[in-house]
Amino acid sequence: MELLKIAKVSREFGGLKAIDDVSFSVKKGAIHGVIGPNGSGKTTLFNVVSGHYKPTSGEVWFENKPIHKLPPYKICRAGLARTFQNLRLFKQMTVLENICAVLDESSGVRILDYFLFLNRVLRIEKETVLKAEKLLEDFNLSEWWNVQADSLPYGVQKRMEIARALATNPKLLLLDEPAAGLNHTETDELSGIIKHIRDDLGITVVLIEHDMKMVMSICETITVLNEGHLLIEGTPEVVSNDKQVISAYLGG
Ligand code: ADP
Repeated sequence: MELLKIAKVSREFGGLKAIDDVSFSVKKGAIHGVIGPNGSGKTTLFNVVSGHYKPTSGEVWFENKPIHKLPPYKICRAGLARTFQNLRLFKQMTVLENICAVLDESSGVRILDYFLFLNRVLRIEKETVLKAEKLLEDFNLSEWWNVQADSLPYGVQKRMEIARALATNPKLLLLDEPAAGLNHTETDELSGIIKHIRDDLGITVVLIEHDMKMVMSICETITVLNEGHLLIEGTPEVVSNDKQVISAYLGG
């Protein structure tokens, strides 16, 4: 079944077509990769899907409903969560507080209240803490629970960002370059986390990634963008042997 459908989507900035007439679908239960050289439109595409940019033309459908006119928070409530290329954590909150803030936000408590009460006078419901503890365990974050986000090692910050995105209880998770800045061991660990999210939590994953080894090993389908266009889509084997893909990457 088709979970996400991108239909003839274009997004222009001034005269520049960052994405141009791109169409593809993501199947429910997939780990789907989006690759392409720098500037090929990958992040713009994610921004359109998550509602941070409106498409200049075209439509985005999620669970057979159009979402391209909705603001980001409504798209998030519909079940679509994302992470960003540059981490967007609540830097002065602890790991537990970061997760609880989102858990409560998704159950209706305004995030602003947390900022007002920041200096450790946070009131967090017990039920929220229990849910958060489960997520922390699941993502090997328990030992860091009381550490302020900006003091965490980078790899742990990235893991926390993914756990926090999952606190909204999504059906689809968009990951923007999750392996960027990670070493080999951390990247392998991340691959395991992504498989766990799909296999055990039943969440569909779409990821933008430059680490080809990782993309080829965990994705069933890969969409390749080049200069705003969809170049090719297929299995890792088909994509990695495609002459156009090789030429786009090597500039030949
Ligand atoms: P990728 O993620 O594949 O590196 P991007 O989606 O970031 O590519 O960028 C695609 C093109 O759109 C680039 O030429 C970039 O400069 C342009 N672009 C992206 N966002 C904006 C913006 N907010 N304003 C103007 N141009 C933008």
